[in-house]
Amino acid sequence: MLLRAIQAIISMTVQLIEAGLHASGIDVRLPGVTIPRDVRSACKLSAIEPEIIRTVCCPQCFSLIARPIPWKCQWKASPKSRLCNTELWKLRNTRSGPKWVPRCLYTTQSFDSWLQFFLLRQVIEDSLQETYNRHRTSRRSAAFGAEMHDVQDSPAWQGLYDSVQSAHHLIFAVYIDWFNPYTNKISGK
Ligand SMILES: [Zn+2]
Repeated sequence: MLLRAIQAIISMTVQLIEAGLHASGIDVRLPGVTIPRDVRSACKLSAIEPEIIRTVCCPQCFSLIARPIPWKCQWKASPKSRLCNTELWKLRNTRSGPKWVPRCLYTTQSFDSWLQFFLLRQVIEDSLQETYNRHRTSRRSAAFGAEMHDVQDSPAWQGLYDSVQSAHHLIFAVYIDWFNPYTNKISGK
């Protein structure tokens, strides 16, 4: 709706400018501006549509299933345990009739295409360069045991930059702060 309203405003503005110019004796036909009508085509045009990877997943044990996908989950807790045996497919009614589809999908975003999108942003480029320059020119590593205000003050963090050759030498880390081995009921918060 918003995209359509913007389209109407732009078209109206172009028409008004043309009418104004016509009144001053200048006959000119300005090119029209076409903007996408729905969010999906807007995302496609601006190349911000994420590349999604969907992997079939067991709805019971959450194992990821490689193709070809069997009818039932073959996962076992140990070689002597019983099979999980959960059904992996379900029938879904589609316009072209009933169709077998996976019951559960695990969805991730392609890291390579996400990285491309991330580095296309000027603010990221500038920040990477700024961080790189800062670490090249001033080493503000705190000594072990000294007061630190941020994880970036730590000698270990600073050490990461010793082998970095350019602003585009990137290091990625994975953080998890929800893993609870004994569940909340037993171990509390
Ligand atoms: Zn399973």
